[in-house]
Amino acid sequence: MRRKLVVGNWKMNGSHAANAELLAGLQAEGPWVAEVAVCAPFPYLAEVALSLQGSPIAWGAQDCSAHESGAYTGEVGAAMLAEFGCRYVIVGHSERRAFHQESDQLVADKAKAALAHRLTPIVCVGETLAERDAGQTTAVVKRQMSAVIHTLAHCISQVVVAYEPVWAIGTGKTATPEQAQAVHALLRAQLRAASEHAGDMKILYGGSVKADNAASLFSQADIDGGLIGGASLKAGDFAAICRAAS
Ligand code: PEP
Repeated sequence: MRRKLVVGNWKMNGSHAANAELLAGLQAEGPWVAEVAVCAPFPYLAEVALSLQGSPIAWGAQDCSAHESGAYTGEVGAAMLAEFGCRYVIVGHSERRAFHQESDQLVADKAKAALAHRLTPIVCVGETLAERDAGQTTAVVKRQMSAVIHTLAHCISQVVVAYEPVWAIGTGKTATPEQAQAVHALLRAQLRAASEHAGDMKILYGGSVKADNAASLFSQADIDGGLIGGASLKAGDFAAICRAAS
């Protein structure tokens, strides 16, 4: 039985005061049966780590470099994140694929860099609305996943996958539990062909998950929790989603 995982993606939101209030609120609401983590902007990671010391809530970053170190101005290496206790790193979020032209191979290389430093990459895949309408959902998510499978080979079972249909992110439009489950099942089948441990891998759903739709999504056979954007910024809302996963 896979333990559910709920990860908050704060995106480019937060401040010293807002983060302190959010983390205090969350710690007062927990703990939960599900595993819970928050992924904060880089400048706040150290203070998030400090606030969460001794807490069951894990923390992570929203991106990392594919490179080990060197002349890559503005980038943050996986080794740097690992050095002060980071657990997760999101790679291939659709906002990075769209706004920073991240290719499938770059995302795979970032996942590899993360694993090399014992961070757990949360690899995001998902189709745009135009791709869904053109009947390309399966081809797109399989292509995105395939780059990661080929790059990581037998290490693929160490990643967390997040299926995030681009049309559902921040739009208030959620995939129905059946739509999401159908894609999760095909991702699981693809992972099964690559790893005997695919049955133990977590595949999260992301895209306008809220307290009132979380339970029905999380009840699907291949949905092992959620990657939560907007609703992770309010302790009460995020805690309700964590409860729905428990
Ligand atoms: C996300 O940013 O990964 C996300 C799923 O956002 P939202 O929950 O706001 O749709």
